[in-house]
Amino acid sequence: MTKKGKVLGILVAGAALLAIWLLFTGNGKRTQFLFGGVMVNLGYRLQDHLASYDFKHEHEITPDEVWKEMQEQNALAASVRKAFPRTARHPLVAMIVCMDARLDTNELTGDTRRYYYTIRTAGSVLAEKEEEMLELAVANGVELIVLSTHSDCAAEKAAASPDMRQRFPALANAVDEREQRIKEFMARPAIASKIAEGKLAVKLIHIDTMTEKMLPR
Ligand SMILES: [Zn+2]
Repeated sequence: MTKKGKVLGILVAGAALLAIWLLFTGNGKRTQFLFGGVMVNLGYRLQDHLASYDFKHEHEITPDEVWKEMQEQNALAASVRKAFPRTARHPLVAMIVCMDARLDTNELTGDTRRYYYTIRTAGSVLAEKEEEMLELAVANGVELIVLSTHSDCAAEKAAASPDMRQRFPALANAVDEREQRIKEFMARPAIASKIAEGKLAVKLIHIDTMTEKMLPR
């Protein structure tokens, strides 16, 4: 065998070993997961500073132009998804998160695949229909429910201001009832029994909005 042939053989064997390590070992899968996260963040670095499609109020843009841009972006994204379909999901996690745009549930979960259910509501408040939806998610295999609040919440600020309470009474009342709704949810028979059996955990957290760090509450 020529010297060139030997080098090629060693490279091919090395690549095969690397592929086996990545695909079939725990550490290899973990490395793939982390590398995927790195690439997603690289994408954010490439896109975040672009001004043409950012929904900020720093340049003149009409609602119709925003809608047109959104449709074009969707058409592109959908064509990519068609070419590269995603794996079916069976989430183990469901979360209630405020609708605040600064909160990124991918970062909260550390999972850019979105293998989790999210209900986003004003002020992270559960209403009866959300309680039912979470109970349905538990029936479908969810084992962890995360109920969150977050810092600098516009809904909480509205509830704390007498003027704003007059303008947005339903929102203010919902924020007032948040803790009561959580108690109500935990007491639902299907939820309480799963918790008692050790088959479901419900965690209350407070999110630091600027860093997305989850803190116990
Ligand atoms: Zn909020």
